Amino acid sequence: MKNIYFTVGPSQTYPSVEKYTLKALKEEVFSMNHRGKKFEEIFLHTQNNLKKLLLIPEDYYIFLISSGTESMERIMENCVEKSSIHVINGKFAERFYKTALELGKDAQKYEATGVFFAENLRMKAPELIAFTQNDTSTGMSIPMKEIKDTAKKFPKSLIALDTVSSMPYVDIDYKYVDCVFFSVQKGFGLPAGLGVLIISPRALEKAKRLQKKNLSIGSYHSFTSLFSSALKHQTPDTPNVFGIYLLNNVLKDFLKIGIKKIRQDTELKAKLLYEFLDKSKRFKPLIEDKSFRSNTTLVVNVKDSSKKLVKNLAKKGFILGSGYGERKDEDIRIANFPAHKLSDVKRLVELLREED
Ligand SMILES: *Cc1c(COP(=O)(O)O)cnc(C)c1O
Repeated sequence: MKNIYFTVGPSQTYPSVEKYTLKALKEEVFSMNHRGKKFEEIFLHTQNNLKKLLLIPEDYYIFLISSGTESMERIMENCVEKSSIHVINGKFAERFYKTALELGKDAQKYEATGVFFAENLRMKAPELIAFTQNDTSTGMSIPMKEIKDTAKKFPKSLIALDTVSSMPYVDIDYKYVDCVFFSVQKGFGLPAGLGVLIISPRALEKAKRLQKKNLSIGSYHSFTSLFSSALKHQTPDTPNVFGIYLLNNVLKDFLKIGIKKIRQDTELKAKLLYEFLDKSKRFKPLIEDKSFRSNTTLVVNVKDSSKKLVKNLAKKGFILGSGYGERKDEDIRIANFPAHKLSDVKRLVELLREED
């Protein structure tokens, strides 16, 4: 019996990944020279397909790095000399904030309690405002409207968005944001080890300004270093060529389906799950306010303990995520990515119903 992974990342692999893995071996991708023409083509196609699928503006830059966590560090190094504000909606937002502190920035926290943010942000405009658009530890998602309103209130601040567990579902209005990042082991159903960082011209300018002032913006993965390599359709280091190859192929699949359909399917599956959960006696979504609930990573409190439930479902081939950190045995986490079929979500709801 094959397991179905509803874990939030790594998660279920996208169905065509098996085929593309065999194809990669046949095409000798693992031995491919990362300074050669073939790689440059893959790099260029991946960039173009990302822009097409996610509707990224033509003048934005796309960098290929190692992980979501790496993006946090790169953004803090390249966009902030002194001050940042971090909207806190869970542990991943805390990680972003901690990264800023560890790099010696004057970072401040703003607790997102589910009420309107921009109105309440009364601090002086910081250089950067960081949002975790979808925090995977709490299942709290921040609507684009909140992000837009914040950007309008602080037009001089750069806006950074962690979309690691909401891409490709989340619909971003790029003109209000400067750094958007994700990694591929979540919503793209790929093996881990590749991060995508999208930045605005304004963010690149900021990095250049800091560099001119002789401040450190990091080394091989600084924005300016990534930018000069990207001009040649390359990366400064030897990248995860196989990961990029897989991403490019899965992007082509997603483009065939269309982003609209991917978003509709995600909402339909999320609705099925939430409808059941809201009526259940044993389960309760951690986020009560529906406008802040994640459609891609559902975090659900289990009245007694989640431990036995996770075990029982695993015996049936349904692998759920446990709660995050100290909430390990209190919650379950359910991913709802493009790799999760409607029929599997329906079966999952039935299995949960039996446990209710
Ligand atoms: C998983 C995750 C990260 C970390 O991404 P890595 O690729 O594992 O470094 C960051 N933010 C969020 C919201 C995540 O879900």
